[in-house]
Formats: sequence, C-alpha cells, structure tokens
Amino acid sequence: MVTFLNLKKINDLHRQELIEAITRVVDSGWYILGNCGLEFEREFARYCGVRHAIGVANGLDALILIFRAYRELGILTDGDEVLVPANTYIASILAVSANRLKPVPVEPGPGTFNIDPDRLEEKITKRTRAILVVHLYGRLGYSRKMGEVAEKHGLKIIEDSAQSHGAVLGGRRAGNLGDASGFSFYPTKNLGALGDAGAVTTNDAKLAETIAALRNYGSRLKYENLYKGVNSRLDEMQAAVLLVKLKYLDRENDRRRAMARFYLDQICNPLIVLPDAAMPEEAHVWHQFVVRTDDRESFQAHLKHSGVETAIHYPIPPHLQKAYAEWSAEKLPLTEEIHRTVTSLPMDITLEKKEWKIVSEACNGYRPEP
Ligand SMILES: *Cc1c(COP(=O)(O)O)cnc(C)c1O
Repeated sequence: MVTFLNLKKINDLHRQELIEAITRVVDSGWYILGNCGLEFEREFARYCGVRHAIGVANGLDALILIFRAYRELGILTDGDEVLVPANTYIASILAVSANRLKPVPVEPGPGTFNIDPDRLEEKITKRTRAILVVHLYGRLGYSRKMGEVAEKHGLKIIEDSAQSHGAVLGGRRAGNLGDASGFSFYPTKNLGALGDAGAVTTNDAKLAETIAALRNYGSRLKYENLYKGVNSRLDEMQAAVLLVKLKYLDRENDRRRAMARFYLDQICNPLIVLPDAAMPEEAHVWHQFVVRTDDRESFQAHLKHSGVETAIHYPIPPHLQKAYAEWSAEKLPLTEEIHRTVTSLPMDITLEKKEWKIVSEACNGYRPEP
C-alpha cells in the first residue's frame, strides 16, 4: 500500500536530532517562553525575511491574534468586512468571525484553487478593510494584482501560510507578502511540530508587540495586563523540534517539487484534471497534490484497489457548513464544483520513486465506469 502520509517515517528522518533537542529542553528546567522559543522566533523570522516572528499555540490562534491585534490597534472594528477565499479550509474563516468581523467569500480562479484576484473588486464595499489570502495546497495566492487592489482601496493583506512554508514569489517568501501572516506547524504541515504550534510573521513592530502581549494574557511585564489577552504560547519543546526541522525545510520542499513534477509529467488520463502548474517553480511547495475527477467515488475506489491511499481536501465548503448557516444562500458554483471533484494524491517526502510510479500508473489505469 502506498500510504497517504506516514508521520512516523517523516519524523524518523530526524529522530536522533529531535530526541537530543527534546532532551535538552527536559534538562533545562524551563518549558514556556524561554530560549528555544526566542531562538525559533529569530530563526523563523530570518527564514521568512521579516523583522518579527511571534510563536503561538497553533495556526488558528495565529490568525485570530492578527485580527485581534488590529482591533486593539483601532484598525479593525465590529462588522468590518474581510474578503476571504470561498474555497479554503474552515480555520481561515473562523479567525475572521471569531473577531466579530464579517468574512465575505470570493470565488477561486478555475485552475489555481486560490482566491481570484479579478473577483476581489466586485466584493469591496465601504466596510471592506482586509483581504485574507490563503496559499491553499502550498501554492502562493498572492499576486501583483491583489497588491494593487489592496493599495487602491487601503486594505490590509493577511496571509494564511499554514500550507505554504518556504514558498517564494519575486524573491519574497510566504509570510512576507502581506502585512501579517499566520503559520501553523500542525504535524502534517510542510514544517510540522510534534504537537500543536503556530507563529505570526510581520514587519509591523506595533502589531508584533501587540500579539506578543495578547498571546500571554495581554501582558508584556509580568502581572501588568494591557489587554484582555489569552494564553496561546509556543512551548519550548515544540520550539526545539521546529528549530531542528526548519533546517531541512528547503530540502524537503524540493523533494515535494520533484514528486509533483513526476506526477505532472507521468499522469496522463483524460478523466483526470491535473493542478495548474503555470507559476514560477519556487512559488509552490506542494503541501497537497490535488487532482479533479468527475466521479470521485469511483476514482478513489480504483486507486484504493490499486494500493494507493488518497484523501479529500476538503469535502464540504465553508458556506455549506452548519456553522455558517447564514451563508447557505450564497451562490459559489466554482467552490462547490471543486469540493465535489477534488482528490489529494500521496505527497509524503519519504515515498520513493517506485511508489511515485505506482501512484501515476494507478491514475493512468483509471477508466470510466461501464
Ligand atoms: C492547518 C490550517 C490552519 C489551522 O492550523 P492549526 O494549527 O491546525 O490551528 C489554518 N489554515 C489552513 C489553510 C490550514 O491548512
């Protein structure tokens, strides 16, 4: 069986280094907001090419705290509108509504799965304040056009970089394309911890300072509370793990690119729509390799029968979730079509060429139901 994702095998690549790093934390006697956290913030900021990185508890909190900090700074307020991709993972949108802001869904471009920059302006109103760009599946969703729209209408650009650690566009990395960016280090991400972890990156010193306080009860100095903050800190153990794994991120992203290139070259079947690869190579880090088929059920069954595990990212779009019942009248046909037809192929860096081949051949052997 070609497994979809084997996290044990992935972390085994760095097993000895991880155990040594964790042991150092155990022996240090200091577990929250210590030297590992600071060093990771410094290293991750440097990696992304930004001035500030703030470690937080997870990716959703990273996004929630960005919007929260803009509220505290008087830049956002109740009912302000944020343009969000209709086609995304629910967490992106939860971060907006958690701050009593109004998420306004925008349809994706047909081949990119990402927010369509040509459809932003038709959704802009007097209350629009920001664009949340999600670099879905690892493909950067930012574009010059988006930057121009934001500039023209005075909108902040907030990145959801949970799936795109290390992707580069015009010399700038994910995390340095907008005003602020949220990262997740959930174990399955391109840079994954051994538990929950996240970070915010930004060049805005005020925003960074505010988030650093908000994540720690709203406090900068012990027992002095500037904001009604939360507890959302990155612990030393996860920071130590991330410091080890950050060193290998570029190499591991290259492995993903090689695998994606192989799939793009080898898979040739009129029943399968491959992902749009028309972008600079370094602008995609292939968190997922997502294909589309009309009859997903039979496609998945065929692959399973051929020994290939697959997954669906994602089966139900946000606007059709019970949690967003107020959106049930929205007409978002492209988003619905995508959710109905997508299947993710294995994109595990420990898979070998013979397994890439099994996947490609299984795809090529897929035939219509009689
Ligand atoms: C994983 C993910 C998140 C949330 O990250 P967590 O660390 O699980 O909270 C947010 N947005 C996207 C696009 C993600 O893939």
